[in-house]
Amino acid sequence: IPVEPFDLVIFGGTGDLARRKILPGLYRRLADGQMPPEARVIGAARSEMDDEGFRKLTRESLEEFMPASALDKERVEEFLSLLSYVQVDAKGDGGWAELKEHIRPDVVHAFYFSVAPSLFGPIAERLKDHGIADDNARIVVEKPFGHDLASAKALNQSLACHFDETQIYRIDHYLGKETVQNLMAVRFGNMLFEPLWNSQYVDHIQITVAETVGVGGRGEYYDRSGAMRDMVQNHLLQLLCLIAMEPPSRYDPDAVRDEKLKVIRALEPVRPDDLVRGQYREGPDGPSYLEDVGDPRSRTECFIAMRMSVSNWRWAGTPFYIRTGKRLKARASEIAIVFKDAPHSIFDVPQGRHSNVLTIRLQPNEGMQMTVTIKEPGPGGMRLIDVPLDMSFAEALGEQAADIPDAYERLIMDVIRGNQTLFMRGDEVEAAWAWTDPVIADWEARGHVPSPYEQGSSGPDDALMLLHRDGRRWREIR
Ligand code: NAD
Repeated sequence: IPVEPFDLVIFGGTGDLARRKILPGLYRRLADGQMPPEARVIGAARSEMDDEGFRKLTRESLEEFMPASALDKERVEEFLSLLSYVQVDAKGDGGWAELKEHIRPDVVHAFYFSVAPSLFGPIAERLKDHGIADDNARIVVEKPFGHDLASAKALNQSLACHFDETQIYRIDHYLGKETVQNLMAVRFGNMLFEPLWNSQYVDHIQITVAETVGVGGRGEYYDRSGAMRDMVQNHLLQLLCLIAMEPPSRYDPDAVRDEKLKVIRALEPVRPDDLVRGQYREGPDGPSYLEDVGDPRSRTECFIAMRMSVSNWRWAGTPFYIRTGKRLKARASEIAIVFKDAPHSIFDVPQGRHSNVLTIRLQPNEGMQMTVTIKEPGPGGMRLIDVPLDMSFAEALGEQAADIPDAYERLIMDVIRGNQTLFMRGDEVEAAWAWTDPVIADWEARGHVPSPYEQGSSGPDDALMLLHRDGRRWREIR
């Protein structure tokens, strides 16, 4: 179903994110019939360029970041014809009057801030001062949303001076993933899981976001943030919230976000013993983390693992183990809900098998899987094996699954539809920093040094110990 006609201005339209994700995502929505031909996309950035230049850049981006099979010649031309470009200076006066001329009345207005966060405030101010954005306009802001609580508050304030919270869409692209929304569908659309979804039946939860890439060319930038700020404070906490939250009374933005906020506020501070930080060593795939960031004394982590606790009735006593890192053995993101053993086994099997695991796979191969114990087929007596009940989208849904939109394109369409459910509210972001800041301050005060780990491994050995000492094991990263 096509969305309403819109004008979408992409500040930073010539940048890496726009070229890699936003423009290809918009093209796919057009090719899929969701972006109406009356829509217009206006690139706005610092570079001197005309409409033709922006179209050329966009064509090259589509060719570079999309498979050739996804590009239809006619559709590409149609998409390019909807594009225009305005050179603007986010911190000055240049270009704003011209930008205003591009904005049509009577269509949805959305402004995507795909620029450094230091430009969020100046752009918001100019949009209002020049009368470009009205009270119905929507603004989309990218991560990182702050470096700590103080800077996140300052950013929130700089936007709140000009826009109402209902107009602000803070992107966390993890929330745009199909399986993440499926997590809510599975939890709140079925009777099967929710009665078991608590500390009485769940032994523990694991969240893994593993990357094979190193920090590469972003070394200097990355070294100022690290895995806690870059991944945990936003993406992993958001996933944790969706697992741990109470059922909202409605599937609407504030009902969902109220429940997520309660989870963040119920997070315990992490004890020093429950935290592992690491840096990859030099290896076959490239230099060490320290070389990549060009600082042999850096104490920033590019791997982090934690045992976390949510202090409420539902989750008291159930650990949430989370880990994320670079240069690990596989690119794999998954959530695993590990259920307890049956209280008494009538079969001759040891306890601690943890046969029932619900796995929610974010990448690659989005899908879900539930393992159950059955009898091994054959005449060998009552031998038990664990087999997967598979819910791979590709198999279950056939062609429909091949059309699963990328997180960015789905989220952009949500902006146009005015649906904020999958975007972070300002108080959520602040609460996440309020939990993160003291954890970082504590390791800094202790002078904590990250442990080195082998490239292509599962991270430092201490991370394995985090579960071993509780009699548990991480799932394989694969
Ligand atoms: P980039 O450096 O590639 O592009 C920056 C863009 O901002 C360019 O188009 C540039 O012309 C424009 N710009 C810079 N200063 C300007 C000014 N004064 N006035 C007008 N335009 C100006 O950056 P990027 O990688 O595209 O990232 C953009 C934002 O998205 C950042 O906040 C980044 O943290 C975030 N982000 C990027 C990625 C990614 O994969 N690249 C992923 C997640 C979040």
